[in-house]
Amino acid sequence: ATPMSIMTATGRGAQVGVLIKNAEALERFEKVDTLIVDKTGTLTEGKPKLVAVLPEAGHEENEVLSLAASLERGSEHPLAEAIVRGAEERGITLQEAEDFEAVTGKGVKGTVKGQSVALGNLALIRDLGLEAEALTQKANTRRDQGETVMFIVLDGEVAGLVSVADPVKETTPAALKALHKLGFRIIMATGDNQRTAQAVAAKLGIDEIRADVLPEDKARIIKELQQQGRKVAMAGDGVNDAPALAQADVGIAMGTGADVAIESAGFTLVKGNLDGIVRARRLSHATMKNIR
Ligand code: ADP
Ligand code: MG
Repeated sequence: ATPMSIMTATGRGAQVGVLIKNAEALERFEKVDTLIVDKTGTLTEGKPKLVAVLPEAGHEENEVLSLAASLERGSEHPLAEAIVRGAEERGITLQEAEDFEAVTGKGVKGTVKGQSVALGNLALIRDLGLEAEALTQKANTRRDQGETVMFIVLDGEVAGLVSVADPVKETTPAALKALHKLGFRIIMATGDNQRTAQAVAAKLGIDEIRADVLPEDKARIIKELQQQGRKVAMAGDGVNDAPALAQADVGIAMGTGADVAIESAGFTLVKGNLDGIVRARRLSHATMKNIR
């Protein structure tokens, strides 16, 4: 590649909110046929809000929420923020948590007011040797609205569920439509539940869903696609997306996301909107045309 054309593209990119970190990304992007997108914070706004606290019999809504939020104060996950803010908005006083432990891709554990508390997905519940069978229907009703459901465990007993909603970004539907037109196969990869993922994907024309994936799985999924001969771009915002962004032929970070995601990517979309990918593709095409 001639440095001039890359420089021009880099300058134009900066004007339209696409930061090009490396020239290779620009060159490689033209060959990309598959786009993996993270759900939370990439397709969605990434600012989930608490929408429901559903305790099991024998437990009280505000008590359940208080314990959950007290524990989540120790976590930096967006879901944790939603729960803490939700509790504060209801005027609930939070307690000190002890023995706090974050379980990546699954949830959090600890002790609050002498009670053992855990909050997270089904994988976490199973790790604790428990089942949430009785709550499946309630959980699925929420998931079918695209909500993320977390189970709360108090002293070794599943005591209810907490549900949060994270709306799709206003710019996402049109961006995905345009990306489809450009011929990309679009795959959503998320640590969230299959059912929630499906509800979100349904309105967006996503081709394929990989749900319930652990952070290390995202990079592995990309590697497998590459071994099948696919050229893969990955768009993500989270700390847990960094390995996948690095593995992809082209990593695309949301400028609104974690620093480590931005550092691992070849492109950064300043505003964190996926329509930036359409612009990046055009820049890539224009650059490569000049070079040939
Ligand atoms: P994503 O890929 O959507 O960013 P993660 O891999 O971070 O998701 O988490 C996967 C799932 O693990 C979440 O949907 C949630 O059910 C559970 N989880 C992760 N962190 C927390 C937390 N701090 N509190 C409660 N649940 C959590
Ligand atoms: Mg994310």
